[in-house]
Amino acid sequence: MSHNNALFARARHHIPGGVNSPVRAFGSVGGTPRFFARGEGAHVWDVDGRRYIDYVGSWGPLILGHAHPAVLEAVMRAARDGLSFGAPTAAEVDLADLLCERVPSMQQVRLVSSGTEATMSAIRLARGFTGRDKLVKFEGCYHGHADSLLVKAGSGLLTFGNPSSAGVPAAVAADTIVLPYNDVAALEAVFSEQGDRIAALIVEPIAGNMNLIQPSPAFVTAMRALTEAHGAVLIYDEVMTGFRVGPQCAQGLHGIKPDLTCLGKVVGGGMPLAAFGGRADIMARLAPLGPVYQAGTLSGNPVAVAAGLATLQEIDRPGFFEALGQRTTELVEGLSKEAANQGLAFSAQAVGGMFGIYFSATVPQGFADVMASDRDNFNLFFHAMLEQGVYLAPSAFEAGFVSACHGTEELEMTFVAAKRAFDQIRRK
Ligand code: PMP
Repeated sequence: MSHNNALFARARHHIPGGVNSPVRAFGSVGGTPRFFARGEGAHVWDVDGRRYIDYVGSWGPLILGHAHPAVLEAVMRAARDGLSFGAPTAAEVDLADLLCERVPSMQQVRLVSSGTEATMSAIRLARGFTGRDKLVKFEGCYHGHADSLLVKAGSGLLTFGNPSSAGVPAAVAADTIVLPYNDVAALEAVFSEQGDRIAALIVEPIAGNMNLIQPSPAFVTAMRALTEAHGAVLIYDEVMTGFRVGPQCAQGLHGIKPDLTCLGKVVGGGMPLAAFGGRADIMARLAPLGPVYQAGTLSGNPVAVAAGLATLQEIDRPGFFEALGQRTTELVEGLSKEAANQGLAFSAQAVGGMFGIYFSATVPQGFADVMASDRDNFNLFFHAMLEQGVYLAPSAFEAGFVSACHGTEELEMTFVAAKRAFDQIRRK
């Protein structure tokens, strides 16, 4: 038995399913998850020494690739000064300043340790600010695993075919209104019926947890206009899109100022760090200034903050997002070309350093379209690529990520592998 498979057998003794987060288990694609030993640039190595081109990047944070020297140096320097104080540090003030400078809608920000904490806290804050209880979210959007958000959610819940979690009290779920993504009429109807009871609308402004789905311009405009008209808080959950699709996140691309924004992944550069922030009058409701409680022993952890600051400094270099966007576009165009050569129903799209690949003839516009794509073909593709040393997200419902280290060589190797994988699918 390989070292990898022995480890997975051992892992299952003391870790439920052998993993510390469900999608890692290869539940929908089948097979044994890879245990990674090391990463460098665009590559990861498993415990048996096999190398892979990595298009997961720890599910988004690693926009600079693995073990970036500037990030490592910053982390080691911070670690030498102490791992945690549970008291304010200068670096977290630097990070807060930087975030408010880069994201124009953000006047104040609070640092937390995970995307789940960011969205959970933003919702509590919106409820405390408005004095209302109802929350609007969209089918297939994932906002972390807080109770009120695990209703018709995406990511791992879709992967395992159960978009709502057990253990969420019915009373909590009852306050969550779930609407189809990109459906302006449904949104208008809900706001006209119960707009005065809606505390917040939370959205992935470019959805990445039901694969990659782009919002229509009308949908983007309607969300801002309706929340504003009805006094509800518009929360952009940019945990995935923040500093991934562009230097001012998805809101910069859309030209929208949400009331609150949640950040994660890239802002922590691979360390446990996330943030939520926005309008100063709303943020002023947070403890210790206001009555909405939120806290964290490791919030603003100095080592995580160092990784975040170093990452944000690197991506601020001129031309960074142009180059990343171009590379990611080259990737999806190359894959589409190989699929077309084999006559397969396949489509793909890229935004910044994020991409979606779909076994459907056209790019999906929403949850139903994604569900209608050919999942068997995705699973075959995933395994054929993995065999050839290309690591994709192990689910048809996840977006992919390209880092600044993915160069022409990695792309060419990916296309060679894809050609064989598509050929296998065509001949199945
Ligand atoms: N929101 C979005 C949009 C996400 O993609 C994720 C994680 N994939 C989260 C929230 C939750 O973040 P975390 O896993 O850090 O709790």
